[in-house]
Amino acid sequence: MAIRIRLGDYERQTDDALGRDAIGYFPRMTETEAWEAGRGLWRLNLKVVSRERFAVIVGQDLVRAVAGITDVTAHMTGLGPKKALEGDLLGPGHPMYDRYINQPDPLANDSRNSIAYGDLPEEAQFRTRDCACGCDQSTTHDFVPGHELRAIQARVREHFGGSVLSFITWLDAELQSTNTGA
Ligand SMILES: [Zn+2]
Repeated sequence: MAIRIRLGDYERQTDDALGRDAIGYFPRMTETEAWEAGRGLWRLNLKVVSRERFAVIVGQDLVRAVAGITDVTAHMTGLGPKKALEGDLLGPGHPMYDRYINQPDPLANDSRNSIAYGDLPEEAQFRTRDCACGCDQSTTHDFVPGHELRAIQARVREHFGGSVLSFITWLDAELQSTNTGA
């Protein structure tokens, strides 16, 4: 899923936890400025937001920046604890950027809430899942790099006393009997 953050009106800041001197939208802001203005500070559910891979920053109904989220940080503010997104701006060539930059808010709704979550089709190829080796890490592929070997080795250890030769001999015999219908 992606998080959509709608920029509010331009507002000067003092004592901003992210060190910014203003937040909100202003005309002709750069993508860096839009990301800095939009990445915080919000009341966000850590569990929900930590599942998001991408952030879309909207100002006056158009997407002003698209970022890949790398982390969520907590900050104490005069209005209580809030969160900020850490991440990297995406650029031309990235499917999320190419599709959404300067386009209308893809997650527009009637809510006054600046934050919205939703699935965007371009994210599908980046969607994470649990590593198939069972290590509880997440990956955009079937395995975290290197873990396919780990998954095989674990099975060789568990079922073949660590002997790759036994495993292969068993596998070949197994395939042979399947093929001959025995
Ligand atoms: Zn793994």
